Amino acid sequence: MGTDRFEIYKGPCSCGEGEYIVEECCPDHPWTKPHQKWYDRTITCSACRNEYSLEKIDGEIYPVLNSEKRKREAIREKWHDMIKKIKERFESEGHLEALERKIDSMPSMAAIYRELNPLVHFHYGLSTFRKHFKVSHTVKGWIEENIHHWHLKAVLKWLGREDPVLENLVREAKQLREDSQKNLPVIGPAICNIRN
Ligand SMILES: [Zn+2]
Repeated sequence: MGTDRFEIYKGPCSCGEGEYIVEECCPDHPWTKPHQKWYDRTITCSACRNEYSLEKIDGEIYPVLNSEKRKREAIREKWHDMIKKIKERFESEGHLEALERKIDSMPSMAAIYRELNPLVHFHYGLSTFRKHFKVSHTVKGWIEENIHHWHLKAVLKWLGREDPVLENLVREAKQLREDSQKNLPVIGPAICNIRN
């Protein structure tokens, strides 16, 4: 199976010595679905390739600085490190065990669902919750897959526990997550629209 490619943009790069090219690509079988599309972006000039990348932002393609991309990458790494730290602290301070014990002591799945819903905000009903729990095999497994750092403040409160250090880490992680999801600063106007 190959790839169908359609050139949707071709124009001069920032220095004018080469080209920016954007191609819409999809697998070349007749039952292609819209979500299987992707956009290949090429910079044919090595000077511009060193300095810029072509990024998808809000349905358009913009040149952005590689240095800004690297900055964002560094923020992502910091965020992942923070999540690791939070997990370690949640475990080493005994919160994880306390959470496991409390969930284990509940009389029924319905009770667990009812109690945890205000903390986790499940976007599915009790029967799906049961299935997820079954797939996770253990309470600990379920916690690892479903309780994330942004839930922990509410979870601590539910457990009647306090941990200001952990709450600080959670706040930092939240900020890093927001920063890592911000759009990159763009260089000039969009070179083409891919909103279709
Ligand atoms: Zn160039």
